[in-house]
Amino acid sequence: MKPFDYVRASGPSEAAGLVASRDAAAFIAGGTELTNLMKDGVLAPDLVVDVGGLPLSGVELRGGRLHIGATARMQTVADHPVVRERFPVVSQALLASASPQVRNRATIGGNLMQRTRCGYYRDTGSPCNRRMPGSGCPAIDGQNRRHAILGGSSHCIAVHPSDLAVALTAVDALVLTLGPAGRRSIALADLHLLPGSTPHRETALRRGEIITGVEVPVSPAARTSRYLKLRDRASFEFAVVSVAAALAFRGRVVTDVRLAFGGVAPRPWRSAAAEDALRGRPLTGAAVAAAGRHLVRGAEPREHNRFKVDLVQRALADVLDALGGDR
Ligand code: SF4
Repeated sequence: MKPFDYVRASGPSEAAGLVASRDAAAFIAGGTELTNLMKDGVLAPDLVVDVGGLPLSGVELRGGRLHIGATARMQTVADHPVVRERFPVVSQALLASASPQVRNRATIGGNLMQRTRCGYYRDTGSPCNRRMPGSGCPAIDGQNRRHAILGGSSHCIAVHPSDLAVALTAVDALVLTLGPAGRRSIALADLHLLPGSTPHRETALRRGEIITGVEVPVSPAARTSRYLKLRDRASFEFAVVSVAAALAFRGRVVTDVRLAFGGVAPRPWRSAAAEDALRGRPLTGAAVAAAGRHLVRGAEPREHNRFKVDLVQRALADVLDALGGDR
């Protein structure tokens, strides 16, 4: 590991200024992600700014919105009674993530900012457009079982690994930030960028911009929400495919629906066409099947991940059945 400077920030503004002041600076909070990437030589910041001790760890309901501080621990948020009751999809996604040890250490902001688990990205002996722009993407014709079927490009087909990001996308969360140019909020659905021809540009955050928290509007759909994660083993494993769904009903008719999918795209994947196929209709088998077809229209599976086209539709049907099957 290359030598680096370390500073414990006294406040978010100072942290943002410090990271903006260098070309290769990085924030650290729980340390469950950055330290691994540094040890493996994937990232080599010359300055690490510790924001783990900043007073940004609150979780509270205020003005019809749930506010989650960026340094709140994953387990704390998963166990919070308001999150469990009003945003079950968020609690379920957190509990399906990582190990209890990691959940007790890792933060909400860090979870959203984690890097892809693509093996080529994490192997510094391999080319990778995301890590080394212009070097190529060996996953396209190589090991691509875990890679994207939607939203990828000829430059990168990596998927984003965060369960939490998928759940928060389904409840229309906003990411709150502070940077050298001031405060702003970004829809979580817009936080992670599609790779296009610049896969090394991973998020919409600007230089020095720090996530200070997440805001989620209270809604009937969020209260009737669910997360399903399909993975190769039962714990401490990333999603092969996941579905977050939030629905509201009047009788049997779906009045509000938000769907987000993990394991299939470079960012949490929202499908307006799939949602439109369900909204305003009873939750029948035909409507669910139509939503699934709309979801995978335009999918570009690769040699080893064709099974995801069918699997994500089955996962969607399972989640919808669990949410509305008894109506
Ligand atoms: Fe790199 Fe993306 Fe290709 Fe993986 S899929 S090797 S992250 S460019």
